[in-house]
Amino acid sequence: MRDLSADAKLLSLNTATLGPRRSLAEAVEGCQRHGIGGICPWRDKLAEAGLDKAAKLIRAAGLAVSGVCRGGHFPAADAASRLRALADNRQAVDEAATLSAACLVMVVGGLPPGSKDLAGARRQVEDGLAATLDYARRQGVRLAIEPLHPAYAADRACVNTLAQALDICDRLGAGIGVAVDAYHVWWDPDLARQIARAGRAGRLYAYHVCDWLVPTRDILNDRGMMGDGVIDLPALRGLMEDAGYSGFCEVEIFSATTWWPKPVDDILATVVERGRSCV
Ligand code: ZN
Repeated sequence: MRDLSADAKLLSLNTATLGPRRSLAEAVEGCQRHGIGGICPWRDKLAEAGLDKAAKLIRAAGLAVSGVCRGGHFPAADAASRLRALADNRQAVDEAATLSAACLVMVVGGLPPGSKDLAGARRQVEDGLAATLDYARRQGVRLAIEPLHPAYAADRACVNTLAQALDICDRLGAGIGVAVDAYHVWWDPDLARQIARAGRAGRLYAYHVCDWLVPTRDILNDRGMMGDGVIDLPALRGLMEDAGYSGFCEVEIFSATTWWPKPVDDILATVVERGRSCV
């Protein structure tokens, strides 16, 4: 029989799973109570707690940091806004370094307000990543591009497939890889080949899980608990392992009406139980 506590140790809790109103301390204590081995804080939770206090809290709990969410959002309508985005990304790198995070997750951004120039936005993304990578290498932080489902191309991320992300990585060199999020890439007919490609290149930095509900009422905040939707998560985990990934399985569930209203212990008990099929 599998050692279930060992399985939970391979899970990481993305703080978004508890909803926007729970504090970092509640997330850390919840991980401890449920034997979850890692955490991926969003930056608003780090700001609320204070970065140094957050680092101490996480370290004292013995949790690994599977990532920091997030950097990115590079495309902007004017030079001043582009510079502000770069400065914010350098700060995100510093936060990831302070937490010894496995990576800084990059949600790269979509079209600037009023723009229809998707190719231009993608050029801005690559320029922004290149500049941030330069800084991140000096700080010892790895950047993980998270391709988002194409429905987000306009407003959140105009990098939408693993192939597109890995092409950028190939052009930019060392220190940059991908975060594979089941919700965003499960539909991709080229998924197996691109995960294998990322593994060969040593670019599999993070693995995020939740499930795709049918129907999905709200693509942003109606994500499913593992097992409640149509993604073959054990098969996906198999692809990740075959590609050499042995890191955390990070649970990231935006669920405004189903999960966020529930008590923390109900959410986390279910995360651990369902997570067994993913780790
Ligand atoms: Zn994700």
